[in-house]
Amino acid sequence: MKVVIAGAGWSGCAAALTARKQGAEAMLLERTDMLLGTGLVGGIMRNNGRFTATEELRAMGGGELFDLTDQNSLHRDVEFPGHHHASLYNVAKMEPMVKDLLLAKGVEVLCQARMTDVEMKEGRIAAVSGKQGDEPFRVEGDVFIDTTGTAGPPANCNKYGNGCVMCILRCHSFGGRVSLAAKAGVKEMVGRRGESFGAMSGSCKLLKESLAPGILDDLNRTGVVVVPLPESKILRGKLALKCCQQYALPEFERNVVLLDTGHAKLMTPFFPLEALRAIPGFEYARYEDPYAGGKGNSIRYLGMSPRDDSLKVEGVENLFCGGEKAGLLVGHTEAVCTGTLAGYNAVKHVRREKPLVLPDTLAIGDAVTYVRKQMGTDEGLSLKYTFSGSVFFERMQARGLYSTEVRKVEERVGKAGLTGVFAEK
Ligand SMILES: Cc1cc2nc3c(=O)[nH]c(=O)nc-3n(C[C@H](O)[C@H](O)[C@H](O)COP(=O)(O)OP(=O)(O)OC[C@H]3O[C@@H](n4cnc5c(N)ncnc54)[C@H](O)[C@@H]3O)c2cc1C
Repeated sequence: MKVVIAGAGWSGCAAALTARKQGAEAMLLERTDMLLGTGLVGGIMRNNGRFTATEELRAMGGGELFDLTDQNSLHRDVEFPGHHHASLYNVAKMEPMVKDLLLAKGVEVLCQARMTDVEMKEGRIAAVSGKQGDEPFRVEGDVFIDTTGTAGPPANCNKYGNGCVMCILRCHSFGGRVSLAAKAGVKEMVGRRGESFGAMSGSCKLLKESLAPGILDDLNRTGVVVVPLPESKILRGKLALKCCQQYALPEFERNVVLLDTGHAKLMTPFFPLEALRAIPGFEYARYEDPYAGGKGNSIRYLGMSPRDDSLKVEGVENLFCGGEKAGLLVGHTEAVCTGTLAGYNAVKHVRREKPLVLPDTLAIGDAVTYVRKQMGTDEGLSLKYTFSGSVFFERMQARGLYSTEVRKVEERVGKAGLTGVFAEK
């Protein structure tokens, strides 16, 4: 049995690992020269309800990638405005660690392999093709998973953002994102932002070396630096642009908030360079990602797949999806959880077994179902969902799903009869 996964962000990596653990051959196609996609510049884990979701997935036997992010955390139990018990992984070292794990588990990883075409046969995908470097490739499979994400390509960043800002996705070098589902004829869904479409990514990275020594010391020591902005320097209105609604709090407008993820993660979609350099301690500030972080950020959430709660894409017999493709879900934790479910159900599908739908007694199950339902409404399409804040974290709390007690989470998973369900067979 062969599972072909297009896109190696956190969701694609989780899908490939899970399919492999279930005994399938798993081939992971990635258009750039590195895995992890937008996860190459993220780093925040375990904040608020992400702690619970992480422990749920671990109890279900899907915790390997979270074990790696835990091992690679520069700071643990960090507090920053509106967020508790966060871990911050080192973005500089994460990717090779994940690649080594996938290779050790027997996942076939093809980098610089950009899928651009799909061959359909009687409502099923028979093969995908594209180029690996200059060489054409064509890959047949029994089942396919679309984890190509929703970020860019530059035409979208030009149309709905402030232009290509040269982010980590490096579309001009490797070719832009191409959606597997769209190529298979699926009409994708589009997130909204008032009158506009998509949403702007919500953080940038500064070169640590460009910060004043006092700020740098604090950042390295504690993981967090919050610098209040003088009234005249507050740039109002940027919060509404953010796709990370969990950080759309006034504290992130009134202060410069930095987190140590190896780089200095600046918690705002962009900040004009001259204005930033006018703040004491930031006189030499320089952007590391995106390179034009003084002007804008990447645009996301423009191509999501209609899907059911097993993460099967509607309209194509043998296609599943995970991560941002599966809806307006923001975050690495969310991508790992949905990617794991997609990888698991892809294998079940080929074996003609009943797919797993996670119950709403688990935060992950509730998120998968709730987001699907929300995306059927105009209002729902204008929101973003994450375990770590905003509407979905509020819902977790209201439904008693948020917990930082590992034993309690394990018991809940056990009660649902799902302990170890994703573990290696
Ligand atoms: C700047 C920034 C900072 C962030 N910070 C955090 C954070 O701190 N914590 C957090 O939890 N979340 C963060 N996020 C959000 C988080 O990164 C994403 O929501 C999540 O990781 C998405 O994962 P994904 O696998 O769905 O998609 P992506 O990460 O977008 O991965 C998709 C992958 O598919 C590849 N691809 C696309 N088309 C093709 C094709 N045709 N063929 C082959 N490969 C293809 C892409 O190159 C990419 O590697 C951040 C996002 C950004 C942009």
